Amino acid sequence: MWNTFLATGHIINIGHDIFKENRKLADKNREMLKKSGVFSVNIMGAIGSGKTTLIEEAIKALGGKYKVAAIAGDVIADMDAARFEKLGVKTIPANTGKECHLDAHIVNELLKKNDLNGYDILFIENVGNLICPTDFDLGEDVKIVIVSVSEGDDIILKHPVIFKTSDLAVINKIDIAEAVSVDPETMVRDVRSLNEKIPVLLTSKKQEETVKKWIKTIEDAMLEKKRNE
Ligand code: MG
Ligand code: ZN
Repeated sequence: MWNTFLATGHIINIGHDIFKENRKLADKNREMLKKSGVFSVNIMGAIGSGKTTLIEEAIKALGGKYKVAAIAGDVIADMDAARFEKLGVKTIPANTGKECHLDAHIVNELLKKNDLNGYDILFIENVGNLICPTDFDLGEDVKIVIVSVSEGDDIILKHPVIFKTSDLAVINKIDIAEAVSVDPETMVRDVRSLNEKIPVLLTSKKQEETVKKWIKTIEDAMLEKKRNE
């Protein structure tokens, strides 16, 4: 068991400046993505929060209008990658092996191998957890954190950093809030107590209006970025 812990890079690497190295590569990625003209979204959240499902919904709605690509990051990425691929978009699996987060180096390797020139949106699904993805800038335009009500109403205050550093927070699966005795409004207040300015969306795949709002939020952010270029 201890070997497994010690084998995860960011634990044994504390003390080395892996973050500095990461930032340098993230800047490179930012430049590459800017050159391609693609709006990139880093989607973070625990396993089971609904990252893949919400990305799928966005792909279904935006894939017909825009050129969409997706990086599926996971310890074993092929399952989520297959779900994106099925929707007919360019899909890039990012198997992290033992690593529990994507880093700028992994994304840099993928960007070198996959030409995204002319693409409008790149979804990057990070590996499922609320902790270390926070430490690794990928060079993305925006960071989105997704939590499900099923993670419990103390989940947000237990993970302050990710809510402080994200550009959008999504509280998902609100259709089951009552069943898990969680008040989504309390979760919204918790997010705002950590980050006054962050927009917060309440979503459920079963409530079409909320999915539409999610999709529109991403589309608007992309269009705004294009206008400002
Ligand atoms: Mg997933
Ligand atoms: Zn990690």
